[in-house]
Amino acid sequence: MNVLITGGMGYIGSHTCVQMIAAGITPVIVDNLCNAKAEVLNRVEALTGVRPRFFVGDIRDEAFLDSVFAQTSVKAVVHFAGLKAVGESVSKPIEYYDNNVNGTLVLLRSMRKAGVKSLVFSSSATVYGDPQQVPITESSPTGATTNPYGRSKYMVEQCLTDLFAAEPDWSITLLRYFNPVGAHPSGSMGEDPQGIPNNLMPFIAQVAVGRRDKLAVFGDDYATPDGTGVRDYIHVMDLADGHIAALDKAGSEAGLHIFNLGTGKGSSVLDMVNAFSDACGQPVPYEICPRRPGDIAECWASTEKARQQLGWQATRSVAEMTRDTWRWQSQNPQGYQD
Ligand code: NAD
Ligand code: UDP
Repeated sequence: MNVLITGGMGYIGSHTCVQMIAAGITPVIVDNLCNAKAEVLNRVEALTGVRPRFFVGDIRDEAFLDSVFAQTSVKAVVHFAGLKAVGESVSKPIEYYDNNVNGTLVLLRSMRKAGVKSLVFSSSATVYGDPQQVPITESSPTGATTNPYGRSKYMVEQCLTDLFAAEPDWSITLLRYFNPVGAHPSGSMGEDPQGIPNNLMPFIAQVAVGRRDKLAVFGDDYATPDGTGVRDYIHVMDLADGHIAALDKAGSEAGLHIFNLGTGKGSSVLDMVNAFSDACGQPVPYEICPRRPGDIAECWASTEKARQQLGWQATRSVAEMTRDTWRWQSQNPQGYQD
């Protein structure tokens, strides 16, 4: 089966391509390379022996997408393409709504013309805002988002819900990721943020490899066991497998399906610093700093629904997440080099 992967050159998309090929699915990639390097395709090929078809272009270009569908006979779309930096979304809301919301609408129009009505969408735990209770289930309240990035994900979820209400022959799966981290266990693929990393794990990795002096820990006065923020970190390979489970089980049936993709376990910032120090064999320097505006104290997923309905659960530990990240970072200290 051919599956179109928008944003397939990015962090999660590239790992999903590798796992799809192993599962006998043929990925067809569309990416405009605004946050990825062309070298990714060589790494996917080296790992799998397959060089996926890759169309360089923008999902907001409807004629481009129409021509991709006309050439590829894809049966489903996994939609990763979008902008994802929370802080940047505050200063560039138009770019975020245009890429994430408008880009998705253009994609949906093109899919409908091509008769492709099966979509898996990259949503985020950010749609839950500051949760009233943990673990967060799929029926926990959504919408109290705190920044344009989060609102763009919530808006797309609503667009897709309305589309399904109007056209119930679609199969739409919303996957709400918790905190994706880690890298391919070979060390040849991983997360390669441009500029200063916003997220915890790539920042720690760059400190460990000597690209940055120390980690700023954003707050140690939360109501959590050690005072630092608690999140549900999930290995990117588990996340990739979750997409294949979603395509297999839910993607074939018409419906609107919603799943959390997390591990169900929370780890604090200091837990992650300590696990990374173990993985790289040296302490990771850090200093306690003020809270980051907009951060929540803790969040982790209820994983029951995905386990029961997709037959999927995360299996990789925090030790594997940090070990694989370190292997990637130490083998590729400057990330992908084109
Ligand atoms: P990423 O930036 O590594 O990958 C996104 C890819 O999409 C990049 O390769 C980029 O070049 C491409 N892209 C962006 N805009 C495009 C456009 N208009 N047309 C074509 N290509 C475009 O990000 P990622 O971490 O792999 O995230 C993938 C998806 O998962 C995103 O939608 C993101 O919002 C969502 N998500 C990510 C996280 C996370 O922490 N990484 C958490 C929750 C949800
Ligand atoms: N964090 C931190 N220093 C950093 C980046 C993140 O202390 O340089 C903390 C952040 O406050 C949160 C956790 O690490 O408690 C995860 O943050 P990240 O940005 O990776 O994910 P998100 O905020 O989206 O859950």
